[in-house]
Amino acid sequence: MRIIGLTGGIGSGKSTVAALFSELGAPVIDTDEIAHALSSPPSPALVQIAQQFGEDYLQVNGSLNRTRMRKHIYAHPGEKSKLEKIFHPLIKEIALRKLDELPENTPYALLAVPLLFETGSYASAIDRSLLVDCSIEQQIARVQARNGLNTSEIEAIIANQCPRKTRIQLANDIILNDTTLAHLQSCVKTLHQQYQDQTCRFT
Ligand code: ADP
Repeated sequence: MRIIGLTGGIGSGKSTVAALFSELGAPVIDTDEIAHALSSPPSPALVQIAQQFGEDYLQVNGSLNRTRMRKHIYAHPGEKSKLEKIFHPLIKEIALRKLDELPENTPYALLAVPLLFETGSYASAIDRSLLVDCSIEQQIARVQARNGLNTSEIEAIIANQCPRKTRIQLANDIILNDTTLAHLQSCVKTLHQQYQDQTCRFT
């Protein structure tokens, strides 16, 4: 089974692309979904958070107190790596296990990793990378419409991600998501065929 690492900046259209591949029958393992699941009990991440940050960082129902954690990290940026050291290995372990559990005759699967190029920690797990790309102006407009964040908040997130030019240089395949959803759908269909038939070169 070939593993395609799906990535792209915030608002580029990764989730939309993942859903389109999924509609065509391709398995999608999403590291964001895994991170989300790890934030609710039962979760080994929460056990470590309670030990290293304190029980106060959990809500009464045992799930992660995101607001408190966000404020803490904002006030103490050095603590971010402590949190990442808890989450990242667990996310990777679960993602690889989920890929391993797919039926043996699966031709390919997508592994959605928003920060694929930033972290580099999935490089050995994937055979090929697929970037969903669009202009920064489109990223801002889409995230504004989706989350209601203001321009400077979105720009700050974009500034923390890999620059567009670097991502384009690193990706094996690129979907330019700068027009309609119908166009996006057609790009996904073409790539799905290539991945399934393995007519593209796998690294
Ligand atoms: P990401 O997962 O990369 O953050 P999403 O897939 O959630 O991005 O897309 C961001 C927003 O933009 C969503 O509300 C999505 O419906 C919308 N969107 C994505 N691509 C298009 C497109 N080609 N045309 C119109 N809306 C789009």
